[in-house]
Amino acid sequence: MADAVPYRAEILAAVACVHHAIGYQGGRLELRDVLEVLPGLLVAPMEPRDLLGRAGVTMRIGYHVKIGFDSSLPLPERRRVVAHEIGHAILHCGLLSPNGLPGVPFATEAVGEAQADFFAQELRALRRAKRAPRSSRSEGLPPHARAAKRKDLGAR
Ligand SMILES: [Zn+2]
Repeated sequence: MADAVPYRAEILAAVACVHHAIGYQGGRLELRDVLEVLPGLLVAPMEPRDLLGRAGVTMRIGYHVKIGFDSSLPLPERRRVVAHEIGHAILHCGLLSPNGLPGVPFATEAVGEAQADFFAQELRALRRAKRAPRSSRSEGLPPHARAAKRKDLGAR
């Protein structure tokens, strides 16, 4: 069913931008890291009665986008809802993703919901943690070794 989501490639690009911006290396994704790279986004708990039966809501307020989520939800559900609403904020509410990718159009509310669900699913999909081979990087070399490396390059 995920193949049927319109603008799938653009949504995956937006997720990749967020992952890149937070330096995501795999493992469990922390939503607070995502919120840190989206400074125009405000997230606040809301009373269930103010949400009119919804689990969360995203609204544009001037230059900001506000996400409200049901404060009575258990934590795993809150995380799912906030990730979904971040999808609406980036894809549908003009909140710039970290590299300024534009959002995506949606023809119906159902399509918009499917796009936000897809964004949230991909954002939070558990990826295997990468192990950076630090010893092979030039930053890992002691200063004299780096200088020697520069000399080698200059001699050519
Ligand atoms: Zn939604």
